[in-house]
Amino acid sequence: MTVDSKIQRRGLMLILSSPSGAGKTTLTRDLIQLGDLSLSVSITTRPRRASEIDGVHYHFIGRDEFIFQRDRGDLLEWAEVHGNFYGTPRKPVLNTLASGRDMVFDVDWQGTLQILEHMRDDAVTVFILPPSLTELRTRLERRAEDAQEIINRRLLNARDEISHWDAYDYVIVNDDLDHAFKALLSILAAERLKRVRRDGLARFVDGLLAEDA
Ligand code: 5GP
Repeated sequence: MTVDSKIQRRGLMLILSSPSGAGKTTLTRDLIQLGDLSLSVSITTRPRRASEIDGVHYHFIGRDEFIFQRDRGDLLEWAEVHGNFYGTPRKPVLNTLASGRDMVFDVDWQGTLQILEHMRDDAVTVFILPPSLTELRTRLERRAEDAQEIINRRLLNARDEISHWDAYDYVIVNDDLDHAFKALLSILAAERLKRVRRDGLARFVDGLLAEDA
């Protein structure tokens, strides 16, 4: 561990948004595999896909339970997307950031705006664009996990999601996964070094200046 990486700081919120099929899920998975970021696991009323694990990809819950948690104030943000409810549980986020660990969020533009309203200083927002809408359709059909009707609905919603691109700090066009992942890593590396995030810097500099060199 380098001296630089030991300087204390609060965790940051790396927020990724994109239309379905732009590669966000893959990029998120690759980020988590690095081992030094936690995934914010959302609650949703959407039915579980065959490839998904409850508690890992989402907490799958019923509509009544969702509304109960939302109305109790348990959610940092929530939104209705493609006819289902999605929300970010507040407590794990606050605990993780306070411990100095970074978190990745896969939320839509509505969730992003709510987070920016309350936690602007912690948030780093990244929008992932597909190279074209034709490519987006191909990817959704290749995934073959959703019915054709759902794919059509997601494509329709893609235009709406994309129209919010300019609310984000960074935008990556994902026509090559390796390239997009490297871009994400660069963003993360730079944001981790931001002076304003690093509470421990003042103490470190005081120590430097007090040295009898
Ligand atoms: P999917 O059903 O494909 O997993 O996700 C559909 C959309 O819901 C994606 O755009 C994803 O970013 C968004 N989403 C997932 N979890 C949350 C959440 O907790 N809050 C909000 N606002 N959007 C979410």
